[in-house]
Amino acid sequence: MTYIHDTIEELKQTSPAQTEFYQAVEDVLESLEPLLEQNPHYREQAILARIVEPERQIMFRVPWMDDEGRVQVNKGYRIEFNSALGPYKGGLRFHPSVNGSIIKFLGFEQIFKNALTGLPIGGGKGGANFNPKGKSNAEIMRFCQSFMSELFRHIGPTTDVPAGDIGVGTRELGYLFGQYKRLANQFDGVLTGKGLAWGGSFVRKEATGYGCVYFANYMLADRDHDLKDKRCAVSGSGNVAIYTMQKLYELGAKPITCSDSSGTIYHQEGIDLDLVKQLKEQRNERLEKYLETHSTAVYTPREDYPSDGHQVWRYEVDLAFPCATQNEVTRADIECLLENGCIAITEGANMPLTESAFDTVQESQIAYGPGKASNAGGVATSQLEMAQNASMQRWTFEQVDERLQQVMKTIYKDISRTAEEFGKPGQLVLGANIAGFRKVADAMLEQGLV
Ligand code: NAP
Repeated sequence: MTYIHDTIEELKQTSPAQTEFYQAVEDVLESLEPLLEQNPHYREQAILARIVEPERQIMFRVPWMDDEGRVQVNKGYRIEFNSALGPYKGGLRFHPSVNGSIIKFLGFEQIFKNALTGLPIGGGKGGANFNPKGKSNAEIMRFCQSFMSELFRHIGPTTDVPAGDIGVGTRELGYLFGQYKRLANQFDGVLTGKGLAWGGSFVRKEATGYGCVYFANYMLADRDHDLKDKRCAVSGSGNVAIYTMQKLYELGAKPITCSDSSGTIYHQEGIDLDLVKQLKEQRNERLEKYLETHSTAVYTPREDYPSDGHQVWRYEVDLAFPCATQNEVTRADIECLLENGCIAITEGANMPLTESAFDTVQESQIAYGPGKASNAGGVATSQLEMAQNASMQRWTFEQVDERLQQVMKTIYKDISRTAEEFGKPGQLVLGANIAGFRKVADAMLEQGLV
């Protein structure tokens, strides 16, 4: 459709060199053709040009001093993309690869993900090209304090509420929150993922991984499958991967791979999750150390990966859960998963498939849960944290988990119904993109030209 094509071409002209952002925009816009054909008013109101442009982009200098007394400078970002449905909401990522394109792609995805939760939250994302690896606690604290010294003037419990993402966990959120509180002189729900003793919610830590597995369960049930005894490939060994594996075990499945940026573990008897938690949550170690406890496991260092993909997807599995980072699954990886009998892919990470991997999945019959739906449990639980903070209440673990399951079920039903409505049953990408877009676009139109 020329309208979609023209919008993407225009975007490439006006926002040069933002590859990941174009990839995310193309993924959403290309699904919208049937909706736009039925509803010409979206085009008349230039809704595509408006929705791909962030409401506000903040870029700032983050100067800090390392333990040797040397001055370091990083780039900080907060993209406040869309507030049609509520305050901007989305995580902060600290990773050396962070740049304007990556934060924009994440912020764009976040708009539709947040809309799918059915909760009143807009879309935003932020972060810095800071590498927390190998830094002392004191360095992390100084960096977080400097980052918040600028960010605090742009956020607030009803304006913009960041959370964690890659490289930003409870420790970083603690330092960020402490500095916000000091500068703003307010103890309020301005960040989510907070520690349980200072305003955090039960289940927030587990929510993205748990939600991803709940989603997979609903998707499989619709195809007359379940999780029982399924062998699962999981990538990553951070927050999302760990709690995906935990819920997989609880529901009777068996994760047999996990990875970090240095290599992949394959353990046929099932990943020893307590050990992974110890290595990653407590000792900050590389995954290779897993072998010191389990000599029968296989470790493949990154240098020995196949030249066309990642070792983590090269085993016989029934289900795949990419939970590390963007573009971590190639076309060759998908071909391998399909040959090995994999029946479903559920995304814990954001945009983990390369463009050609995505096309290969779309051409296949495999069940596919796109991240903007399947990993929405984290942000949904963040909103539950905001609700608890605003009402000064604390819900139990079971109450929050129950709500999380309800949200994941509603998302699954909503996107499957939308796919059916547009004559493409089972095409959850189309269902998720149209369902999310429609909510946001309609709210934007109702709020006028702002
Ligand atoms: P995390 O705790 O920092 O863990 C990230 C994991 O991915 C680590 O094992 C890391 O390995 C690996 N990784 C990161 N960059 C990599 C790269 N370039 N190549 C290979 N491996 C890499 O982060 P997380 O919160 O689990 O987030 C993982 C994914 O889920 C991201 O795409 C994030 O946007 C998405 N997500 C997170 C949430 C949430 O609530 N946290 C919600 C929705 C979506 P190293 O330790 O070696 O770097």
